[in-house]
Amino acid sequence: MNNSANRVIVITGASSGIGEAISLHLADKAFSLVLVARRLEKINALVDRIVQLGGRAIAVKADVTRQDEVQQAIEAALAAYQRVDVLINNAGYMAIAPISARKTDEWDRMIDTNLKGVLYGVAAAFPVFQRQGSGHFINVASVAGIKVLAPGGVVYSATKFAVRALSEGLRQEAGRTIRTTLISPGAVESELQFGSTDKESLAFLQEFYKQAIPADAIARAVLFAIEQPNDVDVNEIIVRPTQEDF
Ligand code: NDP
Repeated sequence: MNNSANRVIVITGASSGIGEAISLHLADKAFSLVLVARRLEKINALVDRIVQLGGRAIAVKADVTRQDEVQQAIEAALAAYQRVDVLINNAGYMAIAPISARKTDEWDRMIDTNLKGVLYGVAAAFPVFQRQGSGHFINVASVAGIKVLAPGGVVYSATKFAVRALSEGLRQEAGRTIRTTLISPGAVESELQFGSTDKESLAFLQEFYKQAIPADAIARAVLFAIEQPNDVDVNEIIVRPTQEDF
């Protein structure tokens, strides 16, 4: 498929933060967008904004921790637009706390959202990409997928290191026709920092996020990867606030 043609782009976690910024950044380009999240009212409102901007979009309610719902989201994209060119696996959840606090429910939720959610996206879109002979996975990891912040960020990092491994494996296995991009943001303004229930960790995050950059910075990186010619696969992009040490 030619890069200037109308591409179909599925974005998980489109209801806030980075996913919302990506959706708005792509809105006035020649793309058809499929916005996926659990908060349907938010993605419905975003569809209205995108249409007002002259774009094309639909909203699909899905929980990425449920394989059947992720599968249905890809099927809804196919029903609306007959193909899927890019799947942006962006939905994520972060709960920072020391391992010793044993917040095992939050560990499960991070693994289910950040790792299994991405895997379910890959499972749903892979056969579509194979059938089409082209496709592009964009997986949103983190700088926490490059190094570990302990105590606190260990399990979140474990999920993001896993997304890094998965993305590199995907590139090797499917790379001849399917592109794979790993995006690793540093501190970005969004709702992510409020997911932690550990008081000390929340206070740390409040300080840490003072340096956060707008989510649009990640949206620009995503568009850069999408817009490359089909024989160019941008495998990895790291975007930090200039002043961030971690
Ligand atoms: P937000 O909390 O603002 O957004 C998270 C998005 O994920 C929401 O749209 C939410 O939608 C969706 N989501 C969460 N759980 C599920 C689920 N089970 N099923 C479907 N959707 C879900 O955070 P960000 O925008 O910051 O996060 C986006 C990605 O960026 C995440 O993968 C995060 O780990 C990563 N990241 C963020 C950084 C930052 O500093 N902000 C830094 C590095 C990486 P809803 O609740 O409506 O379902």
